[in-house]
Amino acid sequence: HDTMNGNGTLAHSKPKPVNISEVVQKARNTFNSGITRPLDWRKKQLKSLLKMYEENKNAMIDALVKDLRRSKTEAILLEVDYLINDLSNTLNNFDEWTKPEQPPKGIVNVLDDVVIYNDPYGVVLVVGAWNYPLQLLLLPMAGAIAAGNVVIVKPSELAVATSQFIAETLPKYLDNDAVLIIEGGPEEMTELLKHKLDYIFYTGGTNVGKIVYAAATKHLTPVTLELGGKSPVYIDNTVDMEVTVKRVLWGKFINVGQTCIAPDYILCSKEVQDKFVEISKNVLKEWYGEDPQKSPDLCRIINNRHFSRLQALVDASKDKIAVGGRYDAQDRFVAPTIVKNVTTSDKIMEDEIFGPILPIVPVENAYEAIQFINSREKPLVLYVFSTNKEVTKKLVENTSSGGMCVNDTVMQMGVDTLPFGGVGNSGIGAYHGKKSFDTFTHKKSCLVRNFAAIGEKLASGRYPPYSDGKLKL
Ligand code: NAD
Repeated sequence: HDTMNGNGTLAHSKPKPVNISEVVQKARNTFNSGITRPLDWRKKQLKSLLKMYEENKNAMIDALVKDLRRSKTEAILLEVDYLINDLSNTLNNFDEWTKPEQPPKGIVNVLDDVVIYNDPYGVVLVVGAWNYPLQLLLLPMAGAIAAGNVVIVKPSELAVATSQFIAETLPKYLDNDAVLIIEGGPEEMTELLKHKLDYIFYTGGTNVGKIVYAAATKHLTPVTLELGGKSPVYIDNTVDMEVTVKRVLWGKFINVGQTCIAPDYILCSKEVQDKFVEISKNVLKEWYGEDPQKSPDLCRIINNRHFSRLQALVDASKDKIAVGGRYDAQDRFVAPTIVKNVTTSDKIMEDEIFGPILPIVPVENAYEAIQFINSREKPLVLYVFSTNKEVTKKLVENTSSGGMCVNDTVMQMGVDTLPFGGVGNSGIGAYHGKKSFDTFTHKKSCLVRNFAAIGEKLASGRYPPYSDGKLKL
């Protein structure tokens, strides 16, 4: 449902309208039929999903090229292989994760069974964002299937080619009664959110996250909200600066900064700032050449609205730009840009940047950095670059963020035993690895008693008529 127009961008045309009430009802009927509960069914679906990834690598890369002009390396590294690894891990651990838990029990329950069952919630809605349009939708979807739920997936309407790929390809591999796709944007979401759902997993901006949360409260529907924010990087003077620059710039410029965990801004001393800027110039030239617009490795901005937003940020930063600063509206290109000597009153420090502009805010030391971080909304990630363990400890213990990564950026995502999520304005709940399975699972506690005479005698003090003597037994 989209075509290329003259300048090579996608002309949007609306997907086929669907009756949302019918889709939700179908999902409900499927869950009630019980087909998604058996572990064998779930495994079969997950294996088929893995097959879909293996057989459609090129189609997935093509969709990402169309939507974001994503390079093949980034498409594979950050989406296709990432999905394959996560799903393989789920399948390898599936039997272990799905087993009912038997928590420790006290002497009083020595004759009883104490069990925690892993119950699916029921009908789950997974809403994706456009910046990693495959990963952010399919990874939680796999978790929801593993946990035995029926899933309604809503791809982002802004990643047109990916949304179309999902709508066309998923039904060929997955049970069409149990995985339902609704394409569309705010209009479809507004309608969808009126219905009673059993769990909502949303990835996107904080403002829409609040709309989703408000709608969920009406039905007491539990949510995971994977939101954004300004993730700071603190750098001190004890680090290997060459390596630090590469690690910060890579995390910033993958997907040209349209990454929820991208370093948003740097906090460091003026001395570190100067070194960082000087080394950056060489690194950027080495990576993207004299003219970064000609580099095949830099993505493009998703649409004109986001381009104009970033253009305004570059323009507002004009006097402080140390590297880059070019843009081209025709190509939706913004050059990797570093802005020096930024202060809180600069426009660029207002909202999440979500593009290839990296401001540096000078601070005297780690204490000032901590104060700065704590004076703002809680970020999704805090990055710290220091070899001084005391400094790292101070930042760990005196700040709050969804997660942290010390001496690198973005790589924390590759550790499947680290749950990923935000706190405060950057989100509620988490997923990845086992945490994805747990997120979509209601932990149902169950005590199983029996009729053994000794047990009944021991507990008979609870029956009236009450007396102190009975309790002592
Ligand atoms: P967005 O909030 O514009 O859209 C997200 C989803 O919400 C889309 O599917 C969209 O169709 C839907 N939506 C839009 N308007 C709506 C409305 N009025 N009512 C209901 N639903 C609506 O977010 P985005 O621009 O796609 O993504 C960028 C943001 O997402 C950034 O803030 C980024 O930090 C955040 N993000 C977070 C993570 C994470 O894992 N924490 C990952 C990626 C992106």
